Amino acid sequence: MRALSASELLSAWERGLSRTPAERALGLLGAACADESPEALAALSVGERDARLLTLREWTFGRQLTSLANCPGCGEQLEISHSTADLRAEPAGGREASAAASGPLTLQTGEYEVSFRLPNSLDLAALASGAQSASVADAAALLLESCLVEARREGEAVSAAELPPEIAEAIAGRMAEADPQADMELALNCPACGEGWLAPFDIESFFWGEIGAWARRVLVEVHVLASSYGWRESDILNMSAWRRQFYIDLIGA
Ligand SMILES: [Zn+2]
Repeated sequence: MRALSASELLSAWERGLSRTPAERALGLLGAACADESPEALAALSVGERDARLLTLREWTFGRQLTSLANCPGCGEQLEISHSTADLRAEPAGGREASAAASGPLTLQTGEYEVSFRLPNSLDLAALASGAQSASVADAAALLLESCLVEARREGEAVSAAELPPEIAEAIAGRMAEADPQADMELALNCPACGEGWLAPFDIESFFWGEIGAWARRVLVEVHVLASSYGWRESDILNMSAWRRQFYIDLIGA
């Protein structure tokens, strides 16, 4: 993976405008990981995908993040500054992590023996396409069905729907353990009332929002410089942000 130029980032943003969040994430990674096939990128676990998005975000906008949250205790809106390091999960226990990366996970409990893989971008896309009609329970069942490799009860094959709820929960637990970066959380504290809580953090939507704000700013810069100097868009995008701003300041002077 490598960092994207201003021109590449602008193109990825433009292509992603009419796409779903899962497709946008893959579009960004596809541009940054040109040596990997779209199929291989789509098959990355959600945690691996999000770890890469976090790295791409660091390379694009740096390690500092500012986000907004509402305190569940007093309702106060907080502006939180934190580092991307706060979002990095501890790697899953060594052998478990490499097992997750290389093949299916297994769970043996009571009379059940189950093998399954970690959810990936294709699973998320399938969930999103049925999102209007599906409840949370339906979504969990769909995810289990698509990630199940094989399930047996006392040696007899059973379907995902035939697994009891406690086995489904144990599988979900093992998935979360093996792919900890898939659930990013920020530990927050409210300075007004002292409440502490864990807030979920979605790197895809956060990064995409930042890219959109950046793209609109850069397009205005291109407009101002092209109008004033007659330079081509590609030449303006090839300049550093610092140099673009320098010329814009000169126009205003
Ligand atoms: Zn509060």
